[in-house]
Amino acid sequence: MAKEQVAGFEDSYEVEGKMALPYTYFAGRVGSKFITTIRDQQKIMGVKCPACNTVYLPPRQVCDKDFTDIRDNWVELNNTGTVTTFTVVRYDDRHLPRPAPYVLALIQLDGAGTPFMHIVEECKIEDVKIGMKVEAVFAKETTNTILDIDHFKPAPEKISIHALNTARKQWNPADEPATNEKRKGGKPDMATPVIIAAALTGAATMKNQNPSVPYTPEEFAEEAWKCWQAGAAMVHVHAREDGGMATHDHGRIKATHDAIKDRCPELIVNLSSAVGMGKTAEQRISQIVAIKPEMASLNTNTMNFGIVERKTGKIFIDYVFENTFTMLQDFSRAMEENGVKPEIECYDMGGLDNTLLIARQGIFSDPMNFNFVWGVAGGQAFRAESFIAMMNALPPRANFTTCGVGTDEFPCIMQSCLLGGHMRVGLEDNIRMPDGRLARGSYELVEVAVSIASALGRPVATATEARLIMGMKPR
Ligand SMILES: [Zn+2]
Repeated sequence: MAKEQVAGFEDSYEVEGKMALPYTYFAGRVGSKFITTIRDQQKIMGVKCPACNTVYLPPRQVCDKDFTDIRDNWVELNNTGTVTTFTVVRYDDRHLPRPAPYVLALIQLDGAGTPFMHIVEECKIEDVKIGMKVEAVFAKETTNTILDIDHFKPAPEKISIHALNTARKQWNPADEPATNEKRKGGKPDMATPVIIAAALTGAATMKNQNPSVPYTPEEFAEEAWKCWQAGAAMVHVHAREDGGMATHDHGRIKATHDAIKDRCPELIVNLSSAVGMGKTAEQRISQIVAIKPEMASLNTNTMNFGIVERKTGKIFIDYVFENTFTMLQDFSRAMEENGVKPEIECYDMGGLDNTLLIARQGIFSDPMNFNFVWGVAGGQAFRAESFIAMMNALPPRANFTTCGVGTDEFPCIMQSCLLGGHMRVGLEDNIRMPDGRLARGSYELVEVAVSIASALGRPVATATEARLIMGMKPR
């Protein structure tokens, strides 16, 4: 310590001393919940200001921008984040959490608007960079401090759609009319969130084609959960028996539906009204009426529905999928009367026209929700100009989504996303990734859809937003 001469006190000197000052303090109501949630549930919670949407982490009681009391507005954040800046601690001190050298970084969790300080380990010090993605590693034993997150380690780059959705403002039709209200403007609509649906099974895709096709209710719940994590707001389901056969059994379909709802209560479940080949009209609709899912598929024309080899044109399965006008009318009525929103499946323009004809009876609630299906052997193949023609033929305020069989899947969802429509992917329609390898599950195809949405700058709809857009009751 520097010693200064004081005039008139040439003999004075300073004594150097040290003082240990252990102390405890009350972390506060907000701080206590933050620490105990990490300790007991391994969850990192922030608080979100409802006025300016800033998510504070560490949490605080009052927003420092607008002084709103935010202490009860908790949001769960992901365990991943980004290093915004860092330093290397190079000198040891017994009060420090690690022997030097180690990295102390400011880390902004995905979904948070403010960074907080923590240790980065499990990589070389010289590899730590500003902008690097990191993931929390929780302590095995509690210390009742912020070190119940033991440290952060490098994480693979991945978009966490739920974190992005937590951070942004919820879409509100009062501020921003939906695509279906302004389609005629001709300008691509990138503001309406895009609904991503995952079709987990279909009636025909089997485990020997892709082992991730679910059969049991537990497998459905797991697949649905993965799709939900990846950004899907809805799953479309054809229930199966344990051996993989498509089933119309009410008990089995309800068990499958309920297993998904138990695991992901927010997710919209869309049940198929085409429950496999050779089922009667009664078998197809009675399960919908019994279970009353939020949404169900409604098929619009009688058509060939075969399996034909693409390269050679050789027919493997020749089948007529019967959907008469009477069935279309009766199924529509049964769904609408039971509070089930029909997803109107159009395999070509004829199916769309059939629906518009029947709709004159005043059966459908507003808005109508259409799905343009491409590439079924018996329906039309994907063509960009056919897509536009179908979109232009929709009734006012109708929504549209799309799906395509095999490699038709990617171009059709891209076009839909670009035109303000929605996207369906999943193993029912396609078992492969764009590069041709088998998808690890429908969730990986959902990730492709999310990357298309982000490339176009469109937000991905939460289930709440999807319900608003499609005209369903809020949950
Ligand atoms: Zn289906």
